[in-house]
Amino acid sequence: MTSPTLLDEWAVLLERRPTFRDVLAPYGEILKAWARGPGLPIPSLRRSREECGERWHRGVPLLAEAPPSVPAEAMEEAVAAALGFLVAVGEDGEAVRRFAEGWDRRAIEPSALFPQRGRFGSATLPAQTGLSPESLGFVAYGGLRPILDAYFADCRPHLGGADWDLGICPFCGAPPGFADIGEDGKRQLVCHCCGATWAFSRLQCPYCGGRRPDEAVRLQGEDREEGYLIEACGGCRGYVKALDRRVRWNGGPALVEDWGSPHLDLVARRKEYWRAVPTLIQLHSPTSA
Ligand SMILES: [Zn+2]
Ligand SMILES: [Zn+2]
Repeated sequence: MTSPTLLDEWAVLLERRPTFRDVLAPYGEILKAWARGPGLPIPSLRRSREECGERWHRGVPLLAEAPPSVPAEAMEEAVAAALGFLVAVGEDGEAVRRFAEGWDRRAIEPSALFPQRGRFGSATLPAQTGLSPESLGFVAYGGLRPILDAYFADCRPHLGGADWDLGICPFCGAPPGFADIGEDGKRQLVCHCCGATWAFSRLQCPYCGGRRPDEAVRLQGEDREEGYLIEACGGCRGYVKALDRRVRWNGGPALVEDWGSPHLDLVARRKEYWRAVPTLIQLHSPTSA
């Protein structure tokens, strides 16, 4: 899914959900920055199918052993768009300014935002900037997407169904942002940070790995919308939204459907479930859990 396509699909979604148009507007600037691509060319990671498979069979995402060298200039526009988003949704302006200053002085390096096995960014960034972990997670994937999309382009076709069975992205290590249920009824998890998808059992929680059927929870939106699901875990109380493509065959790309359904995050949040990839709802109320 290329970024210009995401921008077009986003316009289609806003047509479809006119009542959300105002609240969703801040996302548009991020998609525009993504559509322009990295500010400097990012060479693609060169790994053979065998080399990728060897890492995957050890349970190691490719980024962990081959992080890209990213000049800050390459991320400038996307990071600026993500910071603008935080201001638009009411994040503390002083904390955003501190982050921007640290970024401009290069005290915050692009690598400090890299995903690390299911979470975003270095552990010291919240204290350093005053931004909440949710806001930093958003800046991380908002800033990195064009970079990592390009970086993993040549390796993406190497992933086979049996290569990877973890709930984090096999390419960048980020937690899943959304799930697609395909024609075969199987679940594909989707990474917002690099754009990858990977197969993952519907019977298992991607966050804690739990497989107990009595812990699998299906939450419902207030107005039932055919095909939209909230798949949650009673064990760790994590959730991922999903779209059943057998029912909703004309749905948009996963990222667009995720950003376009904040009402479902609200349902999950009210029932005290959490998700690892922050959205508008979490950013509006980072401290309520
Ligand atoms: Zn990824
Ligand atoms: Zn769980």
